[in-house]
Amino acid sequence: MALRRKLIAGNWKLHKTVEESLELAGQLSAGLKRDDLDVLVCPTFPALFPVAQRLKGTAVKVGAQNLFWEDQGAFTGEVSGPMIKAAGAIYALVGHSERRLHFAESEKTAALRVAAAWRSGLTPILCVGELLQERETGRMEGVLESQLAGALAGVSTAQAGGLVIAYEPVWAIGTGKTASDAQANEAHAYIRGWLSYRFDKHVAESLKILYGGSVKPANAAGLLNQSEVDGVLVGGASLDASSFLGIIHAI
Ligand code: PEP
Repeated sequence: MALRRKLIAGNWKLHKTVEESLELAGQLSAGLKRDDLDVLVCPTFPALFPVAQRLKGTAVKVGAQNLFWEDQGAFTGEVSGPMIKAAGAIYALVGHSERRLHFAESEKTAALRVAAAWRSGLTPILCVGELLQERETGRMEGVLESQLAGALAGVSTAQAGGLVIAYEPVWAIGTGKTASDAQANEAHAYIRGWLSYRFDKHVAESLKILYGGSVKPANAAGLLNQSEVDGVLVGGASLDASSFLGIIHAI
């Protein structure tokens, strides 16, 4: 089995001013006691550049929470891949369920954003996940398949190995309900199997699949110890240095 380095990513969502973001970034880099895994934070757009500057030369990397699919032009209010890259980020979240829910994002726009991320030299973290009702009616695999197939439609096998996928069951995001270790592992195994079929075995084995949904210091070790779980994407618990560091140091 391929050895996949774990990635612990924090999604700060619509939280923290620039000053507060810098404070948290400083606390994280000062408190990080290990270099055997990757650590990433995704601040708001105004904080992206200052946080990247503050974290330069540390082990904590920076990502954006979204990106637009055009590089420049008359698109008021949008931020593009080249701008994000120039600000010091190396990752971009794509298709987060909150974007799908509140901003009508679809598989089609996720595919455009994935392509824009690659073009700009950013690693896309593609978020997929089912609603509670979809899980309860036995449609989890079908939902994951259509989200993956749609968003990765234009991705070549050569590109696919560098992707990151985040499995985030929507019913577990910000709700305090976490998928059990076994539920997470099972969904990740389904995603990896699908990737092997769509691309190849080597891609599927090398690509990281993160779990996201109410991850906290208390449940992180169980999830991170699953064979198919290559890291976590953390929302609420990434807003406080001691809880995010607790997750990072959980295993
Ligand atoms: C997220 O924002 O991707 C997330 C998983 O949030 P939370 O950890 O708060 O459930």
